[in-house]
Amino acid sequence: VPPRTRLGGTLLGVDVGATKVRAGRVGRGGRVRGHLVTEILTDHHPEAVITTIYRLARRLEDQGSGGWSGSGVAIAAQVNRRAGLVLYAPNLAWRNVPFARRLEAALGVPVTVENDARAATWGEWRFGAGRGARALFGLIVGTGIGGAFIQEGRPVPGSIGAAGEIGHLTVESRGRECTCPNRGCLEAYAGGWAIARRAQEREADGDRPISRRSRSARDEVTAEAVVRGARQADPGCQELLAEAESYLASGAVSIVNAFNPDRLVVGGGLALHWPGLLPRLRAEVRRRCQPPAATAVRIVRSRLGPAAPIVGAADLAARRG
Ligand SMILES: [Zn+2]
Repeated sequence: VPPRTRLGGTLLGVDVGATKVRAGRVGRGGRVRGHLVTEILTDHHPEAVITTIYRLARRLEDQGSGGWSGSGVAIAAQVNRRAGLVLYAPNLAWRNVPFARRLEAALGVPVTVENDARAATWGEWRFGAGRGARALFGLIVGTGIGGAFIQEGRPVPGSIGAAGEIGHLTVESRGRECTCPNRGCLEAYAGGWAIARRAQEREADGDRPISRRSRSARDEVTAEAVVRGARQADPGCQELLAEAESYLASGAVSIVNAFNPDRLVVGGGLALHWPGLLPRLRAEVRRRCQPPAATAVRIVRSRLGPAAPIVGAADLAARRG
């Protein structure tokens, strides 16, 4: 049994994404005091990711005072938080990795692991745009699409901790293939990986949807570049996002009808800079949802931004025991 986390101590918050590991020192009140990001483009093996986290932790220690009282890790995966187990992480190609135990051995402090969207939604509920909500749904749009539901301050876990996986809601019954066994998932139309793939398909057809000025330095055709292009009024990018938006609107309508939240927080790396997304979601929810549910919900943008998963995971670590 790992040692118990001291409440109020300094916590290491970590967010393991498909291409990056972000780590920060999270203090009282969910404040992030210094954070670092490292790319993990080639080696996704659990041991390599643990080494990356260990190094980030040591660098953060050098910047601040003292060590850690515990660590909370948010990860794009289905996670059994109680067991500290990463059950299934398609982007990292992990299955049944006892991640908490292995990272505890490396860091020497207790570790809590949680799905990234659940951690982000928890962070928003505690310290961000979800504060005071009775029934909060977090819709997190990044490389993939995640979600979580918090009712009266309690995350609704489902049977294995995977409730709220809204990215795999079917929006086209014979639609595009997903990374999961299903097809036509919301994520396969509006997740970052799907938007990038659509842009790449257009490029292959000889159409260049992303103008030169919106491209990244590496000239990669990414969803971030599409969002940047849309902000600069590139018609090709606006078109790509408009298509994705119509699917996200269907997702938001389904969430509001099925969960009856009083607040829907929209976060995630892609949604933060996506022009016009929230007004579109608000308008479609008003028009298409069952009226009492539509009237009850407020749709708001994340306040914690990219720090939400780190803050939420660290707070979950502080509360355990
Ligand atoms: Zn899917």
